[in-house]
Amino acid sequence: MSTDPGGPRAPRPDPDGAAPRIDPLRFRQVVGRFATGVAVVTTVADGVDHGMTVNAFTSVSLDPLLVLICVQRTARFHDAVLDAGVWAVSVLTEDMQEASRWFATRGRPLDDPLRGWEHRRGAATGAAIFAGAVAAVECRTHAVHDGGDHSIVVGEVLALHMPDPSGKPLIFYEGEYRGIA
Ligand SMILES: Cc1cc2nc3c(=O)[nH]c(=O)nc-3n(C[C@H](O)[C@H](O)[C@H](O)COP(=O)(O)OP(=O)(O)OC[C@H]3O[C@@H](n4cnc5c(N)ncnc54)[C@H](O)[C@@H]3O)c2cc1C
Repeated sequence: MSTDPGGPRAPRPDPDGAAPRIDPLRFRQVVGRFATGVAVVTTVADGVDHGMTVNAFTSVSLDPLLVLICVQRTARFHDAVLDAGVWAVSVLTEDMQEASRWFATRGRPLDDPLRGWEHRRGAATGAAIFAGAVAAVECRTHAVHDGGDHSIVVGEVLALHMPDPSGKPLIFYEGEYRGIA
């Protein structure tokens, strides 16, 4: 492919330059246009159940089988999941919006952590897996990477489940819950 030496050129990025100032609200608006599913990550630390709503969940590698979640450093869930070293991800269905809201409520009481959500214990991790989940993955922490105000927690997959194979996934798009249709 030939290029016109006299034509317009793309600005050359400066890898060592200061990051441009970008409005965080605008950032959220733009990246919020990437539609995601919604999941609750669960773990058991010192015999206590913990759960947190996430949409930063993705598959990473096929060999070995790896997934990742991003966890806000200041969340109670952060230290719980790192201490436990094993965790489960339950992918929510359309009719589990209330679970998503509850496990995203900051500072909620921890005396009834699973709040009656029907679940069973994953054989590989002991973490709660929601009965209504469209899919679930049990993991052991493989690596933890710096992700700014979040930690990127990479998990080695220990077990896979489809508790409700006919369920329709809950979608999060532009800051709102939606169905797949
Ligand atoms: C659709 C969706 C997707 C999400 N995806 C992610 C994700 O991928 N990763 C992620 O890390 N988070 C995500 N969140 C946010 C996360 O679910 C919540 O912040 C969650 O409550 C944090 O976990 P926690 O309950 O352990 O936090 P907590 O420790 O209860 O609270 C988290 C933070 O809020 C502060 N806080 C506690 N109580 C109060 C209060 N009463 N008033 C004000 N601030 C308070 C704490 O100091 C702490 O900094 C998502 C939320 C939604 C709705």
